[in-house]
Amino acid sequence: MLKFKKSDYDAIRRHGEETYPHECCGVLLGRFEDDGARTITSTARAGNTRTDSAHNRYNIDPRELVRIQREARDRGEDILGFYHSHPDHPARWSSTDLAEAHWLGCSYVITSVEKGKAVLTNSFELTGTDESDKRLVDEQIVIA
Ligand SMILES: [Zn+2]
Repeated sequence: MLKFKKSDYDAIRRHGEETYPHECCGVLLGRFEDDGARTITSTARAGNTRTDSAHNRYNIDPRELVRIQREARDRGEDILGFYHSHPDHPARWSSTDLAEAHWLGCSYVITSVEKGKAVLTNSFELTGTDESDKRLVDEQIVIA
């Protein structure tokens, strides 16, 4: 289960509308709860380094990710997952999304943006023990 504040949930959806028709991407920060839930306490926008095919690919600059992670740690937050948008495509993960997902135990949130308007937002948890058996599993989103 992935818990959002309404403001953070709205922020990642708005981000996808702003970058339309290109994909947006960013990082979800917060804490892992004892019961297995994740509670998001902030989000960080990231630049999409994929300029060749920014409408269906996203990539966060590793240096930017290191900076986001360091600043989050200073605030007592962990990286809980990543978000991106699917302009004019369903809010389901693609084979590329799975191939490029490497953070086991983290959430991958996808928002479909149709004609510039955010529609559905879904979350998928990357489960498995390593790269060979990883998979993305539907995860419930709760807005608190
Ligand atoms: Zn995707």
